[in-house]
This record gives sequence, C-alpha cells and structure tokens, in this order.
Amino acid sequence: MLELSGVAAGYGGFPAISDVSLTIARGESVAVIGANGAGKTTLLRVISGMLPATAGAMTMAGRDLRATPPHKVIETGIAHVPENRHLFPGLSVEQNLRMGGFIRSARAHFDERLAYVYDLFPRLKERRMQLAGTMSGGEQQMCAIGRALMSSPKLVLFDEPSTGLAPVVVEQVFDLVRRISGDGYTVLIVEQNVKQVLQVVDRAYLLEVGRIRERGSSAEMLASETVRQSYMGLGA
Ligand code: ATP
Repeated sequence: MLELSGVAAGYGGFPAISDVSLTIARGESVAVIGANGAGKTTLLRVISGMLPATAGAMTMAGRDLRATPPHKVIETGIAHVPENRHLFPGLSVEQNLRMGGFIRSARAHFDERLAYVYDLFPRLKERRMQLAGTMSGGEQQMCAIGRALMSSPKLVLFDEPSTGLAPVVVEQVFDLVRRISGDGYTVLIVEQNVKQVLQVVDRAYLLEVGRIRERGSSAEMLASETVRQSYMGLGA
C-alpha cells in the first residue's frame, strides 16, 4: 500500500533522513523505532507531504506521493496524528473531530464516522462540548486520533502517541493502536517506547541517524542485540 524507495529529506541542507526504503502492505501495522533526533518525525512529515522529499520515490496505493500536493495527500487515504496533537484548543472536541472529516469523500459518512470514533472513545462522547484545550493530555491524544479517523483513512500515521503521558495512559493508547489495527486500518507508528510498541505491531524498522539500520518482525526486533542494548537498556 505504501512504498518508499531511497527517500531523502532534510532542513536547509541538513540531511535528516537518507536512502529510506520501506513498504507497508494493506492491513499491516509497522513501527519505526529510534532515538531522539533519528529522523522519525521527519519521515512521517515527508510521507504526509508536509516536508518535500529531496530524492527517491514514494507511492500510496499506486499514486505518486511526490507528485501529490500536500493538501491532496489526505485524499490518497493517509491520515497523520502529529506529535504535539495540534488540536484547536479553543474549539470543542466535536468541532475538532469535524475538522478531520471535511474532505469530500468523508463528508457523506460524517455521522457514521463520528459514531465509530465515539464508540472507540466513549470519553470523547461524554466530553464532546468541552474545549479541546481544557482536556487532559491523554484525552487530547484520543481527540487527535479520533480526528485522524474521521477522514476514513486507509493508512494512519502515529507520531509518538505515548509522549508525555502517564504510564497507565500510555498503555491505553497502545491498546487503542492495537484495536485500530484490528479494525482493518493500516498503521505506521513511530515510537521511542520500543518495548511497548513492539508488543503492538507486526514488524518494525530501526532508524539511526536518518538511515534504516535494521528491519524485522516484532519478535526478531525484540531479540536483536542492537535493539536490546541501545533501545531497551538490556545487555546481552
Ligand atoms: P524525536 O523523537 O526527538 O522527535 P525524531 O526521530 O522524530 O526525534 P526528527 O524530529 O525527525 O527526529 O529530527 C531529525 C533531525 O532533524 C534532528 O537532528 C533535528 O534536529 C532536525 N530537525 C528536525 N526539525 C527541524 C527543523 N524544522 N529545522 C532544522 N532541523 C530540524
């Protein structure tokens, strides 16, 4: 469904990611793991068109993403849950969700999508009139995920959804990612929380200084010496 081959991108001459190749099949859930500054956020920005690739090829369901203007990427079926959630703090939860369902193909199914999101997040339903900026960090993360699902995406990009959340809420967020993937969505998640994310996904890529260093099934990555020593604090 998503294919990247030799993709590079950066900021004003600084190469943040280089020669990144990855593929995600329909229905798979895949993680990109790596340390601070490895280029994980940059990779998601490139896929969703917020940052142009400077080299390589990218396709989504056969469509050339490098030739797709940023505001049209959502129409290819990609929805992005950004790192800092980027909600509209002065708008209600429901107004924020509405923002996610504005594209033409989603508008016709607005009520159905909203019912799905409220079923997934009963807390958002209870609080649908509350201003998003007054919600807790975990609730805001749910709202950001809900907003992404409003566009009826095929592929959901999660940027470190566990950042800044209490351990019990982190667990809930990973449970949700698992459920969303079980509901048939294709998932690409970037995370520093390596041990937990590998419990949720089918496969993972390890990104180091902007390059893919290892790839494998979750079980292979959990057993990898590099991953265990550098990312899980476990010795050989
Ligand atoms: P983190 O987990 O800390 O968010 P990350 O793996 O997501 O890290 P990126 O945010 O993609 O990493 O950053 C990759 C590199 O690009 C870093 O060296 C970072 O300093 C640099 N970078 C990111 N955004 C910008 C920017 N807007 N301008 C200049 N450099 C940037």
